Amino acid sequence: MSLFWNKHVHALQPYIPGEQPRMTNLVKLNTNESPYGPSPRVLEAIAKSADDTLRLYPDPTALSLRQAIGASFNVPVECVFTGNGSDEVLAHAFRALFKDDAPILFSDVTYGFYPIYCQMFGLDYRSIALRDDFTIAPADYEGPSGGVIIANPNANTGISLPLSAIESLLQRFTEQTVIIDEAYVDFGGESAIALTQRYTNLLVVRTFSKSSGLAGLRVGYAIGSPELIDGLTRVKDSFNSYPLSRPALAGAEASIKDEAWLQQTTKRIIATRERTTQELAKRGFEVLPSSANFILAHHPTHAAQELFTSLRERAVIVRYQGSSARISDWLRITIGTDEEMNALLTALDAIMAD
Ligand SMILES: *Cc1c(COP(=O)(O)O)cnc(C)c1O
Repeated sequence: MSLFWNKHVHALQPYIPGEQPRMTNLVKLNTNESPYGPSPRVLEAIAKSADDTLRLYPDPTALSLRQAIGASFNVPVECVFTGNGSDEVLAHAFRALFKDDAPILFSDVTYGFYPIYCQMFGLDYRSIALRDDFTIAPADYEGPSGGVIIANPNANTGISLPLSAIESLLQRFTEQTVIIDEAYVDFGGESAIALTQRYTNLLVVRTFSKSSGLAGLRVGYAIGSPELIDGLTRVKDSFNSYPLSRPALAGAEASIKDEAWLQQTTKRIIATRERTTQELAKRGFEVLPSSANFILAHHPTHAAQELFTSLRERAVIVRYQGSSARISDWLRITIGTDEEMNALLTALDAIMAD
């Protein structure tokens, strides 16, 4: 608290990101980064961009990157918006496209930023309980609403929702924006991008941070009708005309064009996820069926918080979210390389043998 702060700042409860430890030689499985990193072509493009042109502001419309994204998904460039990480894209979407005459709807277990953006922008929200098995019950999304947001696959659970369920939501909510946050879709979900060409109120938000291995570059994007993109652009141009640096534009464009790298690395992560799930199950864990690059796991006799602490002592860092009631006895484990997952399993065996 400070005498000098604006009154709205006193009430803010900021998002707490997973730790980025300074220690090296850690097995870092806490923030859903890619163990494989970006395509070598991305590094080349970024290196090439570091020249005298850095004197100049980047393209405020990110046209070349937006064209490449549009071409990759077969949508017109007018349907593509880009921003400084999907967190920024989401923030602009809450500001530009959610209405404050009724609550925003999202799951009780989902991405932690959604309630924070509501608070920041003065939007009411209603969190809707997942079923006991942690799946989304689409029929529970009903009643007055200023907008709907669903992470698919869902954050923290990794469970994906079929496209048919999303389409039924779009048929029910026709007067407000429906956002589908596809941060994890490349690891096994069904994308709603094709539906954006039929439903003008659908915005699909994506990121280069997870499947493209570029969390450090900070690039996200959204695909939706020109009407929605115009609203986002208005907010963006009232806040920061240049959210993407020249290196970020160059790197993201090279990334979207290297589909082979994406296919190859996501395939490896999916195989490691399936193997890790089986290995944890052998050790008595309950693991939710994941379509993401992480798994949510619970052990009937070993408390998640104690496992988290003991793993940390053994230099393995996973995510524990004790403040989130429904998953306070669950660990969220990012899928790393096979070697990293072996280190996790070895550490768990040592801990559970004690
Ligand atoms: C990681 C994540 C984001 C944020 O991604 P950035 O592009 O790195 O800002 C958004 N939504 C969900 C569900 C995520 O898991």
